[in-house]
Amino acid sequence: MIDFSSDRQRMVDTQLRGRGISDARILDAMLRVPRHEFVPEALRAEAYEDHPLPIGDGQTISQPYVVAVMLESLQLTSTSTVLEIGTGSGYVTALLGELACRVFSIERHADLASQARVVLAALGYANVNIVTGDGTLGLPAQSPYDAIMVSAAAFEIPSALLSQLREGGRMIIPVGSPESQQLQFIRMHNGQPVISLRDSVRFVPLISQRD
Ligand code: SAH
Repeated sequence: MIDFSSDRQRMVDTQLRGRGISDARILDAMLRVPRHEFVPEALRAEAYEDHPLPIGDGQTISQPYVVAVMLESLQLTSTSTVLEIGTGSGYVTALLGELACRVFSIERHADLASQARVVLAALGYANVNIVTGDGTLGLPAQSPYDAIMVSAAAFEIPSALLSQLREGGRMIIPVGSPESQQLQFIRMHNGQPVISLRDSVRFVPLISQRD
């Protein structure tokens, strides 16, 4: 058994704290969640490196720093109900499970969804639910959400997701073309989305059933 805790500590110190991530709950959660459990076995030695990694089905686990930036924007508390779009490996789902009360996560690839379910159950995350389906539709039955995190790039913000955010709720989503995207942060204020532009990023595309 390789001990990855010093790799994880280095990731938090250099990639996160060193670049201005200061939210103690997020730094602690990223110190706790064993990211190497969420990457293919052959890539475990790279699990704490400063870049995305392939996880199968042409998809990727996001760069740790981008995950931290997105999580920080959502201002989660131990009472938050969160919706995640794009479970992928389940790594972010685990972090959301640490930071929030209840987590619902939607993944369109059934095999990625079932693999993530197995890893999350083995690690003891009992407050996360993974649903296979089209995340652009959200999950109205469990709405409204305090926060929505979208881990795949949309051409435009899906209106179904906006309608499932509670008043004061926050959403972070990469928006743009496959080559160039920008994170958009949305806060629901008096029933209207207030949008601000954040970092430039590169995510795999958000594919809706209609595509
Ligand atoms: N947070 C994940 C990132 C996975 S990449 C991780 O850290 O591992 C984005 C994921 O979004 C992919 O697994 C892809 O299959 C999924 N995806 C793309 N379009 C989707 C949609 N419409 N609904 C649900 N999941 C979608």
